[in-house]
Amino acid sequence: MLPAYKQILQQSISQKEETKKFLHKLKRAKPNDLDNNCNTLHYKAFENIDCLQCANCCITTGPLLLHKDIERLSQSLSMRQAAFTNQYLRQDEDGDLVFKNMPCPFLDEHSYCNVYEARPNACREYPHTQQRKIINKLDITFHNSTICPAVAKVVEGLKKIYGNT
Ligand code: SF4
Ligand code: SF4
Repeated sequence: MLPAYKQILQQSISQKEETKKFLHKLKRAKPNDLDNNCNTLHYKAFENIDCLQCANCCITTGPLLLHKDIERLSQSLSMRQAAFTNQYLRQDEDGDLVFKNMPCPFLDEHSYCNVYEARPNACREYPHTQQRKIINKLDITFHNSTICPAVAKVVEGLKKIYGNT
């Protein structure tokens, strides 16, 4: 990860407690306004952040895989679904299917996704700050603010808009 991105994350991690309280209070914001502000901040953040210079979500977090994801991925790898599941997946403590090991087995040494066209839906949607109804995703946004430098920048921007107390 680029040192500049690490620095963004370190700063965000150091403000974790304050961010947790802030995002909790943000649940009272007007949902549409919050979506609009969040979306604007999301695209602004990604003007300066290149996922290929980061890959932290693929290194540390990984997606939950649904049946459709397994179907699509196993087909793209010309594998049977059972063989794909056996080789790559495990059940987590909540019973969800996740990759056995992180970094993700499909992340290459240049931070490219080797299954990009067939990647799980959760990978397509990450880090969620571009989606609508962000009001329902503030807990995951808090979590992601310590993983994704773009989310850290979005949260920083939200604090400027909505105040920090
Ligand atoms: S499938 Fe691709 S996008 Fe998803 S975690 Fe793995 S490398 Fe990243
Ligand atoms: S989505 Fe966030 S954590 Fe993932 S590679 Fe892009 S900037 Fe990094």
